[in-house]
Amino acid sequence: MELPLLPLRGVLVFPSMVVPLEIGRKKSLNALERAMLTDRSLVFVAQKDTRQDDPGADDIYRVGVVAEVKQVLKMPQGGSKVVVEGRVRCRILSVTDLGEGFSADIEEVPDQVTMTDELEALMHTAADLFEVYIKNSRKMLGEATVAVNIEDPARLSDTIVANLDIRTQEKQEILEAFDVTERLNRVSDILSRQIELLEIEKRISGRVRRQMERTQREYYLREQLKAIQRELGETDESESEIQELRRRLDEMADLPQAIHDKIEREINRLHKMSPMSAEAVVVRTYLDWLLELPWTVKSDTVIQLPEAEAILEAEHFGLNPVKERILEYLAVQSLARDLKSPILCLVGPPGVGKTSLARSIARATGRRFVRISLGGVRDEAEIRGHRRTYVGAMPGRIIQGIRQAGTKNPLFLLDEIDKMATDFRGDPSAALLEVLDPEQNQHFSDHYVELPFDLSEVMFITTANVAHLIPRPLLDRMETIAIPGYTEEEKLHIAERYLWPRQVQRHGLTEDEIHLGRRAMTRVIREYTREAGVRQLERELAALCRKGAREIVEGQKRRVRITTQNLSHYLGKSKVRHPAVETAAEIGVVTGLAVTDVGGDIMAIEATTMPGQGRLTLTGQLGDVMQESARAGYSYIRSHREHLGVAEGFNDNTDLHIHVPEGAIPKDGPSAGIAMATAMISALSGRPVRPDVAMTGEITLRGRVLPVGGIKEKVLAAHRAGIKEIIIPEKNRPDLDELPANIRRQLRIHLVNQMDEVLEVALEESQTA
Ligand code: ADP
Repeated sequence: MELPLLPLRGVLVFPSMVVPLEIGRKKSLNALERAMLTDRSLVFVAQKDTRQDDPGADDIYRVGVVAEVKQVLKMPQGGSKVVVEGRVRCRILSVTDLGEGFSADIEEVPDQVTMTDELEALMHTAADLFEVYIKNSRKMLGEATVAVNIEDPARLSDTIVANLDIRTQEKQEILEAFDVTERLNRVSDILSRQIELLEIEKRISGRVRRQMERTQREYYLREQLKAIQRELGETDESESEIQELRRRLDEMADLPQAIHDKIEREINRLHKMSPMSAEAVVVRTYLDWLLELPWTVKSDTVIQLPEAEAILEAEHFGLNPVKERILEYLAVQSLARDLKSPILCLVGPPGVGKTSLARSIARATGRRFVRISLGGVRDEAEIRGHRRTYVGAMPGRIIQGIRQAGTKNPLFLLDEIDKMATDFRGDPSAALLEVLDPEQNQHFSDHYVELPFDLSEVMFITTANVAHLIPRPLLDRMETIAIPGYTEEEKLHIAERYLWPRQVQRHGLTEDEIHLGRRAMTRVIREYTREAGVRQLERELAALCRKGAREIVEGQKRRVRITTQNLSHYLGKSKVRHPAVETAAEIGVVTGLAVTDVGGDIMAIEATTMPGQGRLTLTGQLGDVMQESARAGYSYIRSHREHLGVAEGFNDNTDLHIHVPEGAIPKDGPSAGIAMATAMISALSGRPVRPDVAMTGEITLRGRVLPVGGIKEKVLAAHRAGIKEIIIPEKNRPDLDELPANIRRQLRIHLVNQMDEVLEVALEESQTA
């Protein structure tokens, strides 16, 4: 049968369905016209792609519906509105494109229905499901409900599908299902799925609605609460918080406009926030910092030199060169307040009074005192703070210190500036440079605070244990003052005059109740401490006071007398031995002198030989410079073999091993050069080394002895350890002036230029030869 064909877009006509359609395309209008000339019958087929405007014969499906045009309404703009009624499914055998329209050769496929129990059951299921679907989908129109009452299974399935909100392709599949049982089955499947989708949709929209309701409710209640509080003449908590913040802001006198505005903006921001929100907490902490910082608060600084001198003198024994330089520094400051003087850096081992000197300077100049330790600081953010966007962000240590001081012109002690580390998180010393630079620190910007803070009136003082570990650019900004450590006699004075009275008082005792004699004190210093400063000594004295106080409180004694006899009763056995000092002359063991973090110290250097091929082994955590220095000594020995009394061919048949014990401590520097060379020569020649001699000095390939640093510390350490003779480079002669006269008197100091002179003093004659 040949009929005009009309491609459909987005809609489908099913048998026995009445469908209104709008027709606009020229080819479609032509097909309609041709149908109207005959028996008004048309084939309606869906096109595969709805977006296609001018589909070809291949772009349409092969199953459609023959329908009758019931009504035509011509539209003024062209086009027509029609109402059609589907009659029967048809298979399309061929499509002819006539140019102005399509024509199709078709074969009608009427529905074949034989009622079976299965079909009956299927109809019920589909009808029930459809009912549920209608109930859940609010879009459904009333007319569709008619479907449930349809008795014909073929019409039932078609009606249901025509009314579902599904894709055209899915509908087409149903159209193509000629077998009614199969068709109903598929319809049921589609319905179940649709119902599931509707339920999910419902759940989601329910959640959204509940959420909205809750927020609205809260808002509403909050507003009501405010209204009630207003009626009662109360202010709610957040209001009073805001008022309190505003009051604090008003109380901050002479605040620069920019800072005032910023704080005000933040308060307003806080006001608008829900008081419990996480953001409000952040703003509140931030405001707290801004309102606490001493933007304009200062102490009246005075520099009265005689008074400053008196304070320094009263609180510290000795240290005369140090005090002199501090006073000079203060004098310059008082004369030219604007002069950008360098930062003071007190360099010395722990416990020599660096911190307490800084405290005295603060007192002498009328400044508050704050101290932060830079030891272990490895992150720029620790100096300059974290940005507020980070969780738990905080200002850096500088701003924290300023807040603690409560004034913008405190004395700020930066402790252990040599212990700062640098790693991938940024260089803290760069940030510190900015802090210390008078050109830049007027507008110091902390990442957290964001507003520039004026540090130009702060008096910075730094401390370090050793100068050579201070980052170079920082060192250039600073004026270093070395505090090398105390002699036994100085320690005795400090202990008697300062440490002991202070400890006695701190423990609630009087000097009448507890007494420590001079000889006992000397033994505490000598046998219970081994240090350049007096920190350990102070701890031991504290221990004595503690134990004494206990005896008095427990009623065992009314007065405690500590003497050399009962000292060990209080402090236990003597803690300090000087293991490095050998008592008998030995081959290959030399006492060297070193400077470490804790001041000067002595160290044993051992060399030993064994049959081998002339290898030189170095152990004991020796740094590069120290290893090179050992090799230089070795080469010196090779070229002066004969003269040194070393057997020929030693560099072919003998291995040498140099070891510096206490291997866990890294050691470096060239100053052990002559000591290592002496140890090697002793081991190779069999001449023993005198045990009461210690030495320091760098060695050259030719055997010249070059000057080294830290002479005073080293000599003091040797003296502490009971050494009697010391070998130092002739070029270090000027350093001897720094030594206390009594120490110089007790020591024999050999000043040498050449390795020969070293050996002459240090080596004994060979016992065997
Ligand atoms: P540092 O900062 O160098 O490690 P401290 O300043 O903490 O040392 O000093 C340790 C203790 O020794 C302090 O109680 C200090 O008062 C005391 N002290 C150190 N040197 C002297 C001194 N020359 N006169 C009086 N007391 C001193």
